[in-house]
Amino acid sequence: MAFKLTGGCGCGAVRYELTAPLISAGYCHCTRCQRRTGTAASANGLAEPGSFHILSGEDQLRAWKPEGGWEKWFCADCGSALFSRHPSDPMKVGIRLGGLDSDPGVRPSSRQFLASAVAWEPVPDDGLKRYDGPVGRS
Ligand SMILES: [Zn+2]
Ligand SMILES: [Zn+2]
Repeated sequence: MAFKLTGGCGCGAVRYELTAPLISAGYCHCTRCQRRTGTAASANGLAEPGSFHILSGEDQLRAWKPEGGWEKWFCADCGSALFSRHPSDPMKVGIRLGGLDSDPGVRPSSRQFLASAVAWEPVPDDGLKRYDGPVGRS
């Protein structure tokens, strides 16, 4: 049976599907994630290259493209954060886990950019791998 996982934004304008399981997932505590979500950290999953497809609402998609970072795509109508994309390699896509319709199976296994973690919410003592900078580098 073919794998399928769907998701979308809060107002329903943008819908997408994943045709393969997410490779990995983790929490990001970077300042950009704090700004774009208004929260202490963002839960993201890495999509299998080529598995991510927009089903509807392409016209509503907008992106914040910060210098030296991944593009942060969201719905222009409701502001929901949807996915990120590598600026020079569009096959690399990160999915905001909160936009998924159902359990993706994978669980966050790391916390990155803890050097910029907020003061007002303690980082949970959950046993996940911790990185001061990006995942993979300590
Ligand atoms: Zn929307
Ligand atoms: Zn981040």
